[in-house]
Amino acid sequence: MRGGVMFDEMLHLLYPRVCAGCHSLLVSEEKGICPECIATFDAFSDADAAGCAIQERFGHSCPTGNYPERAWSLYRFHKNDRLQRVIHAMKYEGVHRLGEVFGMLLAEMIAGSGADNRFGCIVPVPLHRLKVVERTYNQSEIIARSAATILRKDVRPDLVIRKKYTRPQAGLSPQERQSNVKDAFVPSGNIVPENILLVDDVLTTGATAAAVMHALESAGAVNISLATVALAA
Ligand SMILES: [Zn+2]
Repeated sequence: MRGGVMFDEMLHLLYPRVCAGCHSLLVSEEKGICPECIATFDAFSDADAAGCAIQERFGHSCPTGNYPERAWSLYRFHKNDRLQRVIHAMKYEGVHRLGEVFGMLLAEMIAGSGADNRFGCIVPVPLHRLKVVERTYNQSEIIARSAATILRKDVRPDLVIRKKYTRPQAGLSPQERQSNVKDAFVPSGNIVPENILLVDDVLTTGATAAAVMHALESAGAVNISLATVALAA
């Protein structure tokens, strides 16, 4: 409809849509990021390479051996690269479209590795409720919801509660990270499916994801897989 087109054009003038990586103007079908920026990201060669890198990370930092069943990640995350700027925009600047793009890409990777049929639901790593108030959204939930539309699964942010308002993990040693998130997550009391896909934005030591997995397992989850946009290098 003509009126709709005009309205979109007016919105575009009022809120020009720019790439979160390089600030160039986006064409209408591009969602939050331009193809040139995506091409600069350090992408894993395939799902297996990503899965191995994540499992290694858990072996390194989680002596309790709380490994995900299977794991996927799109990129390696380096300090001060363009991906870092883009993920910052996704987490703190409200660029929801970025979470949608990454969620779609993750879902394609997961569906391509044939594991998508087994999940009973998708669980985003929860934020503390005060942080949701502060940021107005949970970026992991946006990624999870986008992936869920492709994988045709329910998103269940209601299974685990983040009861501790933890310090940011950035800048902490692996041991400090582990004790920072220890007991931060508790099951909500709702019935938990046996097979779960957990979604996080960036994985560093895996301490946060392992703490959420522990809470889900204590409530009856048996196989928990993990999908994350990026693995910190
Ligand atoms: Zn760009």
